[in-house]
Amino acid sequence: MPLTPTKQLLDEAIRGNYAVGAYNVNNMEQVQAIMQAAKETNSPVILQASRGALKYTNMVYIKHLVEAAIEDNPAIPIALNLDHGNSLEICKTAISLGFTSVMMDGSLKEDGKTPTTFEENVNITREVVKYAHQLGITVEGELGSFGGFEDGHGSGKMALTDPDEAVKFIKETGVDALALSFGTSHGLSKFKGNPELKFEILEKVSEAFPYISLVMHGSSSILPEFISLINSYGGNLKDASGVPISEIQKAIKKGIRKINIDSDGRLADPRDYLGAARNSIYEVYKSKMIDFGTAGHSQDYKPMTIKDMKEKIKK
Ligand SMILES: [Zn+2]
Repeated sequence: MPLTPTKQLLDEAIRGNYAVGAYNVNNMEQVQAIMQAAKETNSPVILQASRGALKYTNMVYIKHLVEAAIEDNPAIPIALNLDHGNSLEICKTAISLGFTSVMMDGSLKEDGKTPTTFEENVNITREVVKYAHQLGITVEGELGSFGGFEDGHGSGKMALTDPDEAVKFIKETGVDALALSFGTSHGLSKFKGNPELKFEILEKVSEAFPYISLVMHGSSSILPEFISLINSYGGNLKDASGVPISEIQKAIKKGIRKINIDSDGRLADPRDYLGAARNSIYEVYKSKMIDFGTAGHSQDYKPMTIKDMKEKIKK
């Protein structure tokens, strides 16, 4: 079974009045954990990669990890989304790799830090929609700005989405899904005290566009038991706080159909420690290749097929 179009997963969520989790992945173990949970709970899933994850995995590894997930779970609809794309170019690259949706975050400039104007956001998002839709690819936009940072991405300042602007934005861009800033924040320290989510923003937009999927970012719950575990092993996550599940469920009732989960999936960032492990083991393998005399021979000959070899040894 190939990947499932993201729009189909979202449209079904609208029909069934539930939300689909969009889980950020960086490595095989995260993909396996998500798929095991999806299989056990019979849940469709959106796997997603941030620009940081694409860089970390050299892109093709993510593609094939997701292919492995599909092969291993033929009964589960799986979509693959680019999280916080910052240019038409990166969206095109993700689409060429087989992603079934892209998020074009036109709320910030290409540097991923400086806020754009409404018109700039509309223009770039519309361009991505035009390119993606002719290929059957779903597009998520963003209006307003989440607080905090995700993978170095963010202005650091929260700017709530103006619902009237959101209605205009959806009309002018033709996006399939829209990330709204209604009080959530990226990263591990989301709030001081309890979050104050502005559900009226969701209500207004979903009333105007009941068939558009609203997207919630910065939705990790940052469970206190994991924070104390990490801190007890020398971590330093004193102010960590997330969105309680009751608030998330309230948001689902108000039209949220895609919920992004990144921080909860990498509370002890696997890229930090696995990346360091990868660098040192790379040195080990490299010296073996040099010591064994293999270095420098990869271009000596053209690889044969197994069929070629079968013919050759027959002779
Ligand atoms: Zn986000």
